[in-house]
Amino acid sequence: MPAYDFIRRSRQPSDPDVVVVGAGLAGLAAARALTGQGLSVQVLEAARRIGGRMASDELDGFRLDHGIHLLNTDHPEPARRLDLDRLDLRPLAPGVLVHSAGRRYRAGVPQQAAGRGALGGALGSPLERARLAASLNRLAATPVPRLLARPETTAARALADRGLGGRTVDGFLRPLLGALLADRSLTTSSRVADLVLRSYARGRLCLPAGGTASVPAQLAEGLPAGTVRTGVAVTAVSADGVETARHGRVGAQAVVLACDARSAAALLPGLRLPDFHPVTTYFHAADRSPLGEPALLLDADRSGVSHTLVLSDVHPSYAPAGRALVATTVLGRRGYDIGGPAGFEPVVRRRLAELYGASTAGWEFLSVRHAPDAVPAMPAPHHFRRSVRVLAGLYVCGDHRDTSSVQGALVSGRRAAQAVLRDLGLETAVRASDVAA
Ligand SMILES: Cc1cc2nc3c(=O)[nH]c(=O)nc-3n(C[C@H](O)[C@H](O)[C@H](O)COP(=O)(O)OP(=O)(O)OC[C@H]3O[C@@H](n4cnc5c(N)ncnc54)[C@H](O)[C@@H]3O)c2cc1C
Repeated sequence: MPAYDFIRRSRQPSDPDVVVVGAGLAGLAAARALTGQGLSVQVLEAARRIGGRMASDELDGFRLDHGIHLLNTDHPEPARRLDLDRLDLRPLAPGVLVHSAGRRYRAGVPQQAAGRGALGGALGSPLERARLAASLNRLAATPVPRLLARPETTAARALADRGLGGRTVDGFLRPLLGALLADRSLTTSSRVADLVLRSYARGRLCLPAGGTASVPAQLAEGLPAGTVRTGVAVTAVSADGVETARHGRVGAQAVVLACDARSAAALLPGLRLPDFHPVTTYFHAADRSPLGEPALLLDADRSGVSHTLVLSDVHPSYAPAGRALVATTVLGRRGYDIGGPAGFEPVVRRRLAELYGASTAGWEFLSVRHAPDAVPAMPAPHHFRRSVRVLAGLYVCGDHRDTSSVQGALVSGRRAAQAVLRDLGLETAVRASDVAA
């Protein structure tokens, strides 16, 4: 963490106790924890809407989320900070479908991984399948502190060291971790990969019925009216307030920088800037579902496509009556050389015909969303709890401080709020209520 030395300026009567910069999950979680302790908070968001990376658009009755944001029922922080019942989480089919070398098979439920029939030989020999099942079951039963105490290397090396063969890794684990971590190279920290696989084996992947934007919307609903101001870009931060592009200065006793990693590093030079995994999501409309079930379909071949999902099979509100909405993820910068993300669409469409075993010629290409900084990379060694306190009065949170996920963003926001409250002498109240959200 770089050293900063700021001189405190006087505050105006209208100034809040705390300014939070950014209304993504981390900023909203921090604001909820701070207002829950009676502090006045202003959340300043540069964009015209809240939610950061968790946004949705409507197009002709289709709901286009900015990426397939999978929630896992095993993650503890969403369960603590969100009303999951009200989010109406819709589970995906257990396990996943994997398409490999022209065949599609169901895989990935630990107790199924050793089974025959459904998997065929795609995951390797019976011994290899048994190893995979044992490995997932062991991960599911291992307490988190034990996982975090294991030697850390790349996910690829750790999986190989456990005796998981090439067919198991390439036919199942690589595409699965591609979908869950946006990393098919398996350069992610083995500890992060273990945690992700552990949650996968224990929980269920799901989507909120109202789309990804309903998650930040629920956090914002719990804030006092007027707390969030959108369209306010912060240009400079200090321990006693912020400067904005067009709305002057806002003073505060504390400032929480809850931006994405790149914006945070621009406002606080010296802050670590991670590498990123870019994610591109293609949306197609079809006259009917090519699958008929809410199953995550992984592409184990090197086609460019990572995974695809019929969103209207997860919840009908994703598409107008009588239509189906298919979302498909491509990782990295694939296709840029042939006209950017939209130029790659014909390749994606052709591959979708193979993946779904259905003609896609009549499908309508609705839209493509490209997020170059979608997921901060988490190579080894990964620091799971980066400091959120720069100095008394200045704090930083966001998924780049914990893990690059909904879970990580929410935890980082809570930790930053706890650090503020501690510095303001309100720590006891936090402990007593565990930052009521
Ligand atoms: C395509 C895609 C797919 C994903 N899939 C998954 C998934 O399946 N599961 C999962 O758990 N996670 C997934 N993630 C990651 C997850 O979305 C993020 O980890 C999480 O939303 C990050 O929240 P955040 O609050 O840290 O940052 P952000 O959501 O980036 O919020 C930061 C906010 O700060 C604002 N801001 C920036 N600069 C300024 C400024 N100068 N002034 C004011 N405001 C500013 C931004 O506009 C933004 O609203 C995915 C992400 C993407 C993009």
